[in-house]
Amino acid sequence: MDAEQLRENGHKMVDFIADYYKNIEKFPVLSQVEPGYLQKLLPDCAPMQPESLQAVLQDVQTKILPGVTHWQSPDYFAYFPSNGSVAGFIGEMLSAGINMVGFSWITSPAATELEMIVLDWLANLLKLPNDFLSKGPGGGVIQGTASEALLVVLLAARDKVLRELGKDALGKLVVYGSDQTHSSLLKACQIAGIHSENCRLLKTETCNEYALSPESLTDAISHDVASGLIPLFLCATVGTTSSTAVDPLLALGKITKRNNMWFHVDAAYAGSACICPEYRHHLNGIEEADSFNMNCHKWFLTNFDCSALWIKDRNALIQSLATNPEFLKNKASQGSAVVDYKDWQIPLGRRFRSLKLWMVLRLYGVKNLQSYIRNHINLAKHFEDLVAQDSRFEIVATRTFSLVCFRLLPANKNEDCVNKLNRDLLDAINSSGKIFISHTVLSGKYVLRFVVGAPLTEERHVIAAWKLFQEAASTLLESS
Ligand code: PLP
Repeated sequence: MDAEQLRENGHKMVDFIADYYKNIEKFPVLSQVEPGYLQKLLPDCAPMQPESLQAVLQDVQTKILPGVTHWQSPDYFAYFPSNGSVAGFIGEMLSAGINMVGFSWITSPAATELEMIVLDWLANLLKLPNDFLSKGPGGGVIQGTASEALLVVLLAARDKVLRELGKDALGKLVVYGSDQTHSSLLKACQIAGIHSENCRLLKTETCNEYALSPESLTDAISHDVASGLIPLFLCATVGTTSSTAVDPLLALGKITKRNNMWFHVDAAYAGSACICPEYRHHLNGIEEADSFNMNCHKWFLTNFDCSALWIKDRNALIQSLATNPEFLKNKASQGSAVVDYKDWQIPLGRRFRSLKLWMVLRLYGVKNLQSYIRNHINLAKHFEDLVAQDSRFEIVATRTFSLVCFRLLPANKNEDCVNKLNRDLLDAINSSGKIFISHTVLSGKYVLRFVVGAPLTEERHVIAAWKLFQEAASTLLESS
């Protein structure tokens, strides 16, 4: 890397990105291109001779950006957010600049040690039990995504039991979640060799706001034990993907302890809110958990990817995932005085991801991060109030954080018609390019999901979005 070339090109790129953010509201939020559009615009083979950065950036502007869905737009309200920030961005920049591969402590001691320190900071902010801190037998590790976090703890739980019972027990192991648990649980079971018929997605009820009931878990476990099966693992969620339901951690955790099971808590989105004292109660019962995960790249101003996983017994992970080839042996690892994160994850190589989280915590400070979360939740509440004032709409699930689940519900229409109407409303809204939202189905109802969580979103964006819903609804109702 030539330092002067980096300086020149790096400055140009930062200018380009800064201009992108300056103009971000001008782009259609959801990309409007057709499949295969890019093949028609780019040549069939790589250039034989170097081109200028200016030529490439010109193509980015005219050919790539039209095919981008703008997750950082203030008018982005879909799925869950994927936050970027100046601190997160410059942390990524520094990580790319240093460009080390920190699989073992020796390959960059600072990378391992900063990750341990920053995850201890965050664990303390979330008031996680001390067992999750790196000073004891537990600790934190940054995974790429919540799906990887779930997979590695499921592997740890599986292998712990198989070491006791023998490999033949694999076919008897049962994993539990709810019908609202993220689909990554099924995928993790598939990879871990847990039969799909032994993955119980227990039905939740509207009256419980789509949270998993302890009674249904107890019943399912009793039934499985009576059938000669072995309960292995429960994944509970704080902030489910469809409606941000919160499973009752304490009661569920006690059941898992009585049945010798691994208890994992997935707070991929809502974990961030729990740094505010007024939302921390959603984690009550976390002391029963064996592992806990939150995505800092969702709602914590940390650029993708940065999924924080804490585990009480790091040896369980290490026994499952450790490798020790000759070519990686070194004195520090042999002495076991250090953490080698390669043994806490699936890949060998790993980036210096703690830098961006450290930057976020230091450059914003806890007070600003708390205000950031509170502001989004207040904006979501404001949107919810606007929906509630329009009798043509219905709020479908209680809002707990910054997601509002609602639908258009005109009188005298059957459920199929209402579902179609809401599908049409979503299509009309998204194809306008003005905002981007997503949907879910709850109790057979097609539901619109409006999540406030993009860093640039202000009250004016939320108000304009609501006007758009009202206008699109009027147009649809007139023509239906
Ligand atoms: N868990 C929950 C509750 C989620 O909402 C999501 C994604 O939105 C995930 C897990 C999966 O996240 P990831 O993309 O980090 O694997």
